[in-house]
Amino acid sequence: MICEKCKTNISKEEMFQFGGQMYCEDCYIEIQSRPKPCDPGAVSAAKASRELQGHKGIEGLTTNQKKIYNYLKKNGKVPRKELLDYMLLTPEELQAEFAVLRHCELARGGKDGDTLYFTLM
Ligand SMILES: [Zn+2]
Repeated sequence: MICEKCKTNISKEEMFQFGGQMYCEDCYIEIQSRPKPCDPGAVSAAKASRELQGHKGIEGLTTNQKKIYNYLKKNGKVPRKELLDYMLLTPEELQAEFAVLRHCELARGGKDGDTLYFTLM
């Protein structure tokens, strides 16, 4: 299937429906927070730069990113709202921190009914 916004080809399980259109996870979360161009190349770019710096796992992450990682590690599937309350960040700030974890393939977002949640890979 093709994401309406960034035209990335993704599997059906990774698609999210919004306003009658299908989106990839990145675009869906961005639409939920604020409009921002989708960057399909960001995943490989983030991974490549971390590999270049010799970072593996959670090494090289910011304090906030490590805090999110450790919270997910302890709690498993965490609703977006719970993580926002725990981190005391705005949805935009959390989105930016989480994008790095997702791009490094450490964590991912998902949807359970109408609830957006985050979990480790
Ligand atoms: Zn997309």
